[in-house]
Amino acid sequence: MADFIVGLTGGIGSGKTTIANQFFDLGIELVDADVIAREVVEKGTDGFKKITSHFGSEVIDDSGSLDRAKLRIKIFNNETERQWLNNLLHPLIRSHMLNAVENATSPYVIMIVPLLFENGLDSLVNTTLVVDIPPHEQIARTAKRDGVNSTEVKKILNRQMSRELRLKQADNVIDNTQSPEELRNTVQLLHLKYLAQASSA
Ligand code: ADP
Repeated sequence: MADFIVGLTGGIGSGKTTIANQFFDLGIELVDADVIAREVVEKGTDGFKKITSHFGSEVIDDSGSLDRAKLRIKIFNNETERQWLNNLLHPLIRSHMLNAVENATSPYVIMIVPLLFENGLDSLVNTTLVVDIPPHEQIARTAKRDGVNSTEVKKILNRQMSRELRLKQADNVIDNTQSPEELRNTVQLLHLKYLAQASSA
């Protein structure tokens, strides 16, 4: 079990995945909140059963899996239903993430959580690492990666925490306007710092 958890966060397209993969290349295990959020509602799980008995068969797709797009429509503009779903999912995701940390064998773990501060998951981690790039760059990179237009990305960006507020809560910040090669050096330095912190934790 890893005793030291680094919470990695940042806005959409800031470079969380890219940076997490560089830590992984150094032998550090990753716990990804987005992956776990999908696992806890997989066909046959408790999460799946509770959601489908609450919302009905409409939220099940042709293959018998949860139709996440339909579910999003159900909770869109319905605060009560959104709250119901959050009350079910948040504790489930939290406990699965902690379980994944318990099974980790690297000296520390990187927990990738897009909404780390928004959802209060910073309480689970020992230190926070924020990936930062200017919004115009964030929009350009996301639009290119996802093949969507900048208006779509701006909508998502507006629903996330502001850059200023996120930076204020960060223990460490990675400026991801660097080249991927320069980034490796920055990640290496942080890695040494986290190894030291983990061994004295
Ligand atoms: P996130 O996981 O935060 O949404 P990604 O790691 O997927 O962000 O990065 C968004 C896009 O930007 C990807 O296409 C990625 O390849 C690219 N990218 C990440 N870091 C850099 C960088 N330092 N320079 C140029 N492009 C980058």
